[in-house]
Order: sequence, then C-alpha cells, then structure tokens
Amino acid sequence: MKKTRIIFRWTGNNAYTVSYLMALLTETLDPENFTIGTAETLSEIYATDSGDPYSTIVAYTLVTPQAEWAKNEILSLKKDLGQNITVICGGPHPTALPEDLLDAGADHVFTGEAEESLPRFLRLFHNSPGTVKDRIIAPLPLEHFDAYPPFAYKLDFFAPVEIRRGCANRCAFCQTPGIFPEIRERSVGYVRDTAIKILEHGRDSIFFLITDALSYGSDALNPVDPRAIEKLLSELSGTGIKIHFGNFPSEVSPSSLARYPETALIMKKYTENTKILVGGQSASDRVLGIMGRAHNADDITTSAKILRETGFTPIIDILLGVPGEEKKDRELTMSVMESLVLKYRIRVNMHYFMPLPGTPLYGSRPEPVEDSVKNRIALLVKNGHARGDFFKQLELNDYTR
Ligand code: SF4
Repeated sequence: MKKTRIIFRWTGNNAYTVSYLMALLTETLDPENFTIGTAETLSEIYATDSGDPYSTIVAYTLVTPQAEWAKNEILSLKKDLGQNITVICGGPHPTALPEDLLDAGADHVFTGEAEESLPRFLRLFHNSPGTVKDRIIAPLPLEHFDAYPPFAYKLDFFAPVEIRRGCANRCAFCQTPGIFPEIRERSVGYVRDTAIKILEHGRDSIFFLITDALSYGSDALNPVDPRAIEKLLSELSGTGIKIHFGNFPSEVSPSSLARYPETALIMKKYTENTKILVGGQSASDRVLGIMGRAHNADDITTSAKILRETGFTPIIDILLGVPGEEKKDRELTMSVMESLVLKYRIRVNMHYFMPLPGTPLYGSRPEPVEDSVKNRIALLVKNGHARGDFFKQLELNDYTR
C-alpha cells in the first residue's frame, strides 16, 4: 500500500505546535504507512504532487492574525491541485470558526485538542481514502496528559514543554478557556524526564508553556501551591538543566505573585532567567473588571516591587483598546507604567486589543487610542522601557477604516 504524506505548513509562528504534532504523529502512526514533514513555502508543496488522489495531506495550524493568509493559500492549493491534496486545519482560529476555513477550501477542520482525533482521522484516511465525510472533527477524550510526547526532540525539533493546559480564569479577550475547557497538567516526573532528554540531545535549557507559571500544581482550593512549584523546579535543577520559568513563552499572574510573594524567591533560587513576565493588561480597575481579570491594579504594582526586590526585571504586559476602555483609563495605565519604570525599572510589553473569535469580546470594536497616549508609548519605546507589537497591531486593527 502506498504511503500517505503529511506535510505541516511551517510558518515559524506555529513552530511549537508543529513540533508537538510531529512528535505525536511520529510516535503514534506506523512509519510503513506515513511520511511526515514540513513545508516552508507553497512551491515545496507543489513539488511533492504525485498526481495521486488522496495521497497527500497538507496541515495548517493557525491563529487568527494568520487566517487571511492561510485562506488565500488554501484557495490556491485546492484550485491547482484539487483532490491530489487534502487540506486539514486546526488551532485557535479554526477551533473558533471552522466554517471560515471550510469555506476557503479546507477539507477537514479539527476543533480543540487533537491528540486523539488527529491520529484516528489519519489512520482512517490512509486505510479507506475518501471515506471520511465529517468536515468538522471534534476532539476525542484524552488519555492522561503524560501519555503524549512533549515535542519532536527525536527530530531535533525543540519547543517549550507544555506543563499545564487550560486556565481557571475567563478573561473576556482570551481564547484559551474555549479551546481547552479542561485543565490538564504534566507530572514532575514527566517534566524531569523531558529535561533529561533535552540534555541528552545536546541542549542545555528548558522552557515552559503554562498560562500562569505560578499555577503549576494548583487546584480549586489552592490557587497557588508554592511547594508544588518548588518540587518541580528543584527536581529539574537536579538534572543540571538551565530553567526558564515565569518568562516568555509563559508569564505569571499578578494576583498569584502578589498573594504568594514567596514564589519569587523560589523562582530566583532555581531559574536562569533574569526577567519575569507579568500579565498586567491594564492599571485601571474598571478596565480589569471589563476584561474579567482575576487581579486588581495594586497587584501589578506589588508584583513589580516583589520582583525588583528579588533581583528580577519585571516585564509588564499591557493591552490597550479593550471595548469600554476610556481615555481616563488609558491615561491612568500609562501613568502607572511610567511611575513603575522610575520606581522598579520595569519594562512594558505594549499590545493593542484584537477581538478574537470564540471570546466574549469577539465582534466588539477596539477603542481608539489618543495621539497623546501613543506619544507616551513611543517615548517609552524610544528610551528602551517598552516594546511589543502595539503599533503593528494598531495598524492591522485600524478602527477608523
Ligand atoms: S488568565 Fe490568561 S490564559 Fe487565563 S483566561 Fe485570562 S488571559 Fe486567558
């Protein structure tokens, strides 16, 4: 029987997910039946066309800002190659708006977690080509979260380890609770074994995916469990790996840090990073209420103080333009950030609100930002106190068009 080719469309932005899915598929599919690779350009996909119907699957995993690009590309692929390729999509945007990709020509869209649904679909596709009729493929129940590989280290394709999935909060701008309704966590043993594999493959550092790094080991009764965090980090430290925790691509919640300041000392004891990223979003309690955040503005200031006193550089994430935010809220947020720059030498990651499908704020218009506020942001950037995609996002999401 001929092999089915699976080609992940690699964009750089989807590197972590592609690495994870490649690991999953190389470990669950029979290599006698499948080949798995990536394509960085459309021409690489065209070059693989064998003229055989149902022989090649092109897989897109994407977020909303990539949706227009992906839809245009899928339209071209299907127009030129027709049934010779089958296009499948997954990720935050397809999960929230599957029809958006189907209308563009995708054959199947996976919603939510795909650890079980994707391998099952691929086996069916290979064994009985043309018989999978469902166009929207819902998630199947997962095994224990430790049952799945962390990323494709066997292919020398490294990524942060997802140590916790999902979030107990329900922020109005965030897709995470909708995509991952259930909270899952990797065990300390799983993470330690992954660290050992990273070291064995010649790398020296470990990074994590987790919505709030300080939520590791927590439950409904204990929103932060400092002992669980220390157990994780001390076990990892014993392997000799360099630990990057509480910084990109994860962050810490101001409410977790302000209420459990001892966690800063634990992070300082074990981690390599000199910065900690704090999900502040706004310094206006009114706007934090609109966003549905689990912290108040004072928690941001307290977090900055704790981090600076512990020897970390605090990086505060800020999101302007959320629907309902007013000029006075933006000015307050900027004033608080400017004073924290002076007092605790924070840096600010500035972002502009983008309404994401599947969130309560989808369909709402971002609030315009005054020139005076933009000038204050530009000055922070110029002086090295701020960075982020604020001006790019403002351009992409222009409310005046
Ligand atoms: S705390 Fe973070 S991950 Fe959780 S819902 Fe809010 S923005 Fe999303």
